[in-house]
Amino acid sequence: MNSSNNKFDCIIVGGGLIGLLSAYFIAKQGRRVALMEQSLLGRESSWAGGGILSPLYPWRYPDAVTDLVNWSRQHWHDLIEQLQQESGIDPQSINSGMLILDQEEQAEAIDWARRFDIALQTVGADQLKTLEPNLGPSPEQALWMPEVGQVRNPRLINSVHQVARQAGVTILENHPVDQLLIEQGQVIGATSRQQSLYAPQVIVAAGAWSAGLLERVGYHLAVTPVRGQMIQFQAAPGFIQRITLYRGRYIIPRRDGRVLSGSTTEHVGFDKSINPQTKDELIKAALEIAPRLAECEVVHHWAGLRPGSPEGVPIIGELSNISGLYINSGHFRNGVAIGLASCQLLCDLVTGQPTILNPEQYAPH
Ligand SMILES: Cc1cc2nc3c(=O)[nH]c(=O)nc-3n(C[C@H](O)[C@H](O)[C@H](O)COP(=O)(O)OP(=O)(O)OC[C@H]3O[C@@H](n4cnc5c(N)ncnc54)[C@H](O)[C@@H]3O)c2cc1C
Repeated sequence: MNSSNNKFDCIIVGGGLIGLLSAYFIAKQGRRVALMEQSLLGRESSWAGGGILSPLYPWRYPDAVTDLVNWSRQHWHDLIEQLQQESGIDPQSINSGMLILDQEEQAEAIDWARRFDIALQTVGADQLKTLEPNLGPSPEQALWMPEVGQVRNPRLINSVHQVARQAGVTILENHPVDQLLIEQGQVIGATSRQQSLYAPQVIVAAGAWSAGLLERVGYHLAVTPVRGQMIQFQAAPGFIQRITLYRGRYIIPRRDGRVLSGSTTEHVGFDKSINPQTKDELIKAALEIAPRLAECEVVHHWAGLRPGSPEGVPIIGELSNISGLYINSGHFRNGVAIGLASCQLLCDLVTGQPTILNPEQYAPH
């Protein structure tokens, strides 16, 4: 790339779901966008995740998270249709619903659902047996959220990658940004070992790595890596139909019979390794939810580093002391469930449009 084509309207640092979707939305507004990814696109947290389109125990989160979930849910089907049409890749988004077998917080859950007008019902033990005969626990009453969907993360990433390219985003893989360029309180670009790119707007969407980059320009971002390990069983299609949550662990049935189960939340820095003790613990928890999974082989075990933030509220917006430098990071356990709204909000801010939600609750301070 020579000096005449290293100038853009906007540079995105990080090619996970959040960086890619931000890039796509901004490019669709007619801006020249470049995205710099340190390794390959979407191979970190966005690849590792389960793709549930709702937080687990969603009533435990601040309203700022629920607002993002709700906006995303309302616009999700349009996005998926658009992605499918433009990319030809099906992210396999399905509305499998989520069952919650824990009994302790049912009153809080019901209040929360009423307050936000979210579909949440209770089902008795008999109905539960009819819905999902292969479940182990049989609580007197379970919670059922029929509108919770799921998506296959790698397919979603591939699809967004494709449409971002088609929208004209310049994508540079293997370009680790090591420095944000600032001149007189204004961002002017970003550099990697290979080259410098210039733009009056730079967005840090580097997931768990965002804080390290911002530290170098004197900004403390409260985002830290939180490791999550997951396993995958191979079962027969239809063995379980619904996402099921119990005692902090869950199983996610895919259409083709894969059943994902997770996940841990470990504060171990940037260590993405997996270990056999955790695998055993995850198998035990999955068998508690669906005992007949004991007959199925565990075919995969992996880990990803979530961008953990206080109470799971992402930081979205422009720094007050460095003009043009934006953040879209800290989506913690819910980047897929809230990513659509967070990237639209970021795009609104960057392009000076009216915002979809009140940006104040996510603004970097
Ligand atoms: C086990 C597990 C289960 C999960 N399950 C769910 C779920 O069911 N539902 C849900 O909504 N969410 C889930 N999540 C969370 C979700 O995956 C994340 O919130 C989301 O992927 C964050 O996206 P991101 O783009 O911010 O981060 P990432 O996907 O980590 O992307 C950040 C990117 O930035 C790049 N980068 C970093 N530093 C630099 C640099 N200096 N220069 C250039 N590039 C850089 C990285 O290489 C990476 O590709 C789960 C996460 C895990 C780990």
